[in-house]
Amino acid sequence: FFRAQGVFLREVSSVAQPKIILRGRELIMFGCCNYLGLATHPKVKKAAAEALEKYGMSTSSSRIAGGTMELHNLLEQKLAEFEGGEDCITYDMGYLANLGCIPVLVTKNDFVITDAKSHASIIDGCFLSGGTVLVYRHNDMQDLEKQLKKCKWKSNKLIVTDGVFSMDGDIARLDVIHNLAQEHNAAVMVDDAHAVGVLGENGKGTTEYFNLMGRIDIVMGTLSKALPGLGGFIVARKKIVDYLRSASRPFIFNLSLPPSIVAGVLAALEVIREEPKLRQNLWRNVRYLRENLQKLGYNTGNSEAAIIPVIIGNDIKTYQMVRMLEHLGVFVDAMVYPAVRKRESRLRLTPMATHSPDDLQKA
Ligand code: PMP
Repeated sequence: FFRAQGVFLREVSSVAQPKIILRGRELIMFGCCNYLGLATHPKVKKAAAEALEKYGMSTSSSRIAGGTMELHNLLEQKLAEFEGGEDCITYDMGYLANLGCIPVLVTKNDFVITDAKSHASIIDGCFLSGGTVLVYRHNDMQDLEKQLKKCKWKSNKLIVTDGVFSMDGDIARLDVIHNLAQEHNAAVMVDDAHAVGVLGENGKGTTEYFNLMGRIDIVMGTLSKALPGLGGFIVARKKIVDYLRSASRPFIFNLSLPPSIVAGVLAALEVIREEPKLRQNLWRNVRYLRENLQKLGYNTGNSEAAIIPVIIGNDIKTYQMVRMLEHLGVFVDAMVYPAVRKRESRLRLTPMATHSPDDLQKA
């Protein structure tokens, strides 16, 4: 059905820019997570191009089999510093970071407790683990407590949540989760894919937003959104990261990250520090778009961060709107089941720092 609507795998000639070309026409892009515009930032491109020139396309080797370069270690050190943690391990994808971390930390007789709207990679990580999976109602802290009470006091318990929920743009109540975890002797893992570079005064994510930097056991992030490349990371205590290095299959059996990606992300971390204006522009754009969509009567749910859903509730209407918007020069994504619950189908808009007021006005 998706295919029949002509909105499946639409072929565009560029992606991570405010304007893209689709079927020969220019469209304003709201379908990528290049939040700060860093995928095309001159410093980032230069660093990546220089590394490409110097080292070539690929390491053609896994991290443990000779594919660990100074660049990889430097990126992990910088990401650990960025998140205020002790150590960091990187993976080839954000997806693999969750898949590589959760099943290693949660095994038989352990409990993993997660939000009903957690990202697919968290859900898959939970079900790949040998532990008991408990799911609490979305952002419902009373239900989280109820689930925690079901676990044996002495058992290992890991609470896993998105920091910013990827389909709704609302923010996990990490402060309450942290307190409940302390009361119930549980550890906390936050997936900050959509919060790194976006939330907090310095763009460090949900932990900074809630003043909890260095106090959340495991912070996961991606190198595929505000940090513009490919890959994922886990920042945690040294002991945990060391253990992951020796036991995490997607780390051990995968190619190491291409040097150009690593160099580009390192440059992006610097830009995030040096150019807070980009985050200010992002927030100006997010607020403008969300407020004006609301004024026009659209249902943007509980969106608080840089993901703005427009909830339609009907698949056919959602696809029709995507097509209509395409016709009018705006690219948005349709999110339907199983990405969201049935009857909660929606458009998803992700503004960028680099959209102009004119782009947003038109959209
Ligand atoms: N976690 C969340 C919350 C995500 O939204 C995504 C990707 N959309 C991922 C993990 C996976 O990240 P990646 O695309 O880098 O594999």
